Amino acid sequence: MTKVLIVGGGPAGMASAIALAQAEVDSEIVEVSEDWRPGGIGIALQSAPLRATKQLGIFDDLLRVGRPHHVIDMCGADGTRFAELPQVNVNDADDPPFLGMARESLHEVMAAAVARARVAVRLGVTVAELAATGDHVDVTFTDGTSGRYDYVVAAEGANSALRSRILPGAPAPSFAGQVIWRAAASAPAGLERYTMMLGGPIRLGLVPLPDGRLYLWMLDSTIGPERPPREELLALFHDRISRFGGHAPAVAAQLTDAAQVDFRALHSLVVPPPWHAERVLFVGDAVHTTTPHIAFGAGLAIEDAVVLGELAASALPFDDLAAALTARRYERTRLVVETSLQLSRWEQEPGRPNPAAGRLIGETMAALAAPI
Ligand SMILES: Cc1cc2nc3c(=O)[nH]c(=O)nc-3n(C[C@H](O)[C@H](O)[C@H](O)COP(=O)(O)OP(=O)(O)OC[C@H]3O[C@@H](n4cnc5c(N)ncnc54)[C@H](O)[C@@H]3O)c2cc1C
Repeated sequence: MTKVLIVGGGPAGMASAIALAQAEVDSEIVEVSEDWRPGGIGIALQSAPLRATKQLGIFDDLLRVGRPHHVIDMCGADGTRFAELPQVNVNDADDPPFLGMARESLHEVMAAAVARARVAVRLGVTVAELAATGDHVDVTFTDGTSGRYDYVVAAEGANSALRSRILPGAPAPSFAGQVIWRAAASAPAGLERYTMMLGGPIRLGLVPLPDGRLYLWMLDSTIGPERPPREELLALFHDRISRFGGHAPAVAAQLTDAAQVDFRALHSLVVPPPWHAERVLFVGDAVHTTTPHIAFGAGLAIEDAVVLGELAASALPFDDLAAALTARRYERTRLVVETSLQLSRWEQEPGRPNPAAGRLIGETMAALAAPI
């Protein structure tokens, strides 16, 4: 009987618990936050990650909470559409190629599946000490409890504490040179399609979600990574969004309090193999953190978990399982991280939009359509 400890209750950790349960492997999750809520506002799942959610048995639940988008309207800063970008579908012909949803909705669907799998989730707890011996690992937790596990899945996200302890040579995430502003709003009348607006060094995305909600993001190459003081945040946000026409003014008018606006510097990381040591295997953002230029980070985390489940079902010894997972995942995650970073860099250069960007996105999405 195998027993696995999962550290981190984000998409990677929850998907790992679901996939391991499918492989009839027991697991438990420790999540450091007392208040188990997702960071961020909206999220998009591309077609290939949706294929992975089918394998996890949560695709139908996601369809219920997501809004399908078949094309993205590409517009100038004034809101005039100049192109339609069809989204790649790797699933059944009538499946949506792209699903936008609230982060909360993704969290709720995954947490419900974790509960159905009878995986215990302990909140406000993390690993204090960890000692690998032979074929198991002994873990002491910050609440004073302890446990013995076959192995640990570290799914702590970009700022993983275990990464620096277990993989001391691994790089840390580095600032990509851009920040992102995000907000939730109501979709103005007539805004039905996912709309991207290009405004020089600033790019605005308006993503209609179910029930008339809207997820706004704004990629910004004009400001440093430090979060501006609260009293300046709203004015800086409005200064940027005011360059956009179309539906942007109707959305901006709803954002009147700094608490409605999220500001975050974007980081990038891909850890070269190995992704394991001392019976700890890293998945998700802990080993591949991507900027959101092709909206694939959570998708990668979910796919990592599906591969983990497949390998766990074959009862490989831990080192073989971890090496096999890394071999199957490294190139794909590197492709997403490096493509996204390249797109970010091009956006920071004068002369944007770079004419090569469309081709790079097309080639990358075609490569990512391959089975995992
Ligand atoms: C602006 C932005 C927009 C994005 N948009 C998209 C998108 O549209 N589509 C997409 O697919 N991806 C998107 N992503 C990427 C996506 O958010 C991440 O790839 C995804 O959340 C990674 O999941 P994770 O579980 O690995 O890490 P996280 O989501 O960071 O979760 C880690 C969890 O571990 C917990 N934790 C941390 N440290 C410890 C510890 N020591 N002990 C226990 N628990 C711990 C945290 O509290 C958290 O719950 C976006 C990212 C950004 C920054």
